[in-house]
Amino acid sequence: MTAPAINPPGLSATSHPIQRAGAWAVAVLADRANPQEVTEADLDAVAARLVEDVMAAALAPKNSTAYDWWKVLFALFPNSKATHSKRPRDRAVLLPEIVALFVPDGPGSPTWPCTFCGVPATAVWTKKNLPMYDTNKALNTLPPGVAGWPICRGCRIAAWALPYGAWVTAGSATVLSCEQEAAEREFSARNVLRARRIMQLGFDGLAAGARPEVVVLRALKALGPDLPAAATLWSFKNDNQEPWLRVTRTRRAVPLFLATVEGNAELRRAWRLLELALTRRDKNGQVVASGPAEAARLLFEAEDGRSRSLLSQLHQLLDEPEKSWSLRNRAALTQLAFIYAEEILGMNPDLKPVATVIADWIEYGSGAPRGRLAEYRNVALSDYKLGALLMQAHFRLTLDGRAVSAGPEDWRPLIQQRPRSWEQRMLLSATVLQLLQERGVAVNERPIDPDDEDRTERLLARPMLGQGDGEAVRDDDCVDDDDDRGAA
Ligand SMILES: [Zn+2]
Repeated sequence: MTAPAINPPGLSATSHPIQRAGAWAVAVLADRANPQEVTEADLDAVAARLVEDVMAAALAPKNSTAYDWWKVLFALFPNSKATHSKRPRDRAVLLPEIVALFVPDGPGSPTWPCTFCGVPATAVWTKKNLPMYDTNKALNTLPPGVAGWPICRGCRIAAWALPYGAWVTAGSATVLSCEQEAAEREFSARNVLRARRIMQLGFDGLAAGARPEVVVLRALKALGPDLPAAATLWSFKNDNQEPWLRVTRTRRAVPLFLATVEGNAELRRAWRLLELALTRRDKNGQVVASGPAEAARLLFEAEDGRSRSLLSQLHQLLDEPEKSWSLRNRAALTQLAFIYAEEILGMNPDLKPVATVIADWIEYGSGAPRGRLAEYRNVALSDYKLGALLMQAHFRLTLDGRAVSAGPEDWRPLIQQRPRSWEQRMLLSATVLQLLQERGVAVNERPIDPDDEDRTERLLARPMLGQGDGEAVRDDDCVDDDDDRGAA
């Protein structure tokens, strides 16, 4: 069926994030190391598979498992021949229309440079067949009188391979771009497995609460410490109503940070504690937020600044009076906060002397330390109020004739409105609480429950970021299994 091709071999992965993700999906589906190695015969094979999967989805009865893949296609291509509500339900009628999407560019026809990659193309596509283009708000509208965008065969196949290489839901798609191609391939490969699972079992066959960030972090972890690589996640939604794009990024030092955590038993333990603490279940015990996925999200920063940081999450956990951390677990979580500050934020403050002033004041003042601890907790993140409390502590300790381990010069960086002062105050709080617990001052409101500790210890034995790198299809959606119930 293949006409002589006019295009050079290989497929370009361009800087357009949607085309790029599609090109990687084609490479994975063709079992090639990268898009450049994709041959014309590979394109034939991938196109044949796309046609079969699109046909199965388009003809699937509503409410069937196979219909879930139609929902995915509908989110990406809402007005295409395959997804339109008035599509033919007769296979013999629909099939040629789908096959025609991916036919080779014909020799002898007039050509234009492909909109994405620039190679000569004969086919001209409207937004109906391009993912995420079919919306009134997008800036992709053609000038009047222009029939469409020229798209080469490779890029047409890449466009429809997108849902295989993207992290898809029934209404959105998330793609990755990364400085290291190995991470892009890994992300795509895991999503191709996941796509097959959606087609076979539907979304109900996937674990709830999973997220693409955990897949990205596994891919970055696999890069090892010597390959700094920033990753960008682009999440698109297009349901013919309100399209949106959300962009989140990781910093270049994340592979190094993950390698440091992975290589240190106490840091690994801290990461698992974080995962367990972030697991959320409904009242029937079903996971609604996967701990590994929620922890992974903390390493991504939203472009609009609306994202939680790992440091503030750790602060919240360590500062929660109802949490009963053993000294070992508190020390591990505190160490994780400091390693993050050092490797990701480039900070390395020595907070022990200032923390000692506060801990001494809490421990040695008259009456029970509980009241002064609560007083400190109330002001721990406020620049001005923390400054006032430190002066008060300094004054009190001096009056009592005690050695004072730090003075106003030492805490000035913490109580100013300067970049990173807020982060320093969180790290100070973690240090104060650890010092107090080491001295035997009660910082937890309730005693540690040995049964809880036993259960947590069992769960801590699992690898961070989910269940390792086995071949199981379930792997990419893995969340804690039933044993985790009640541990968080
Ligand atoms: Zn192209």
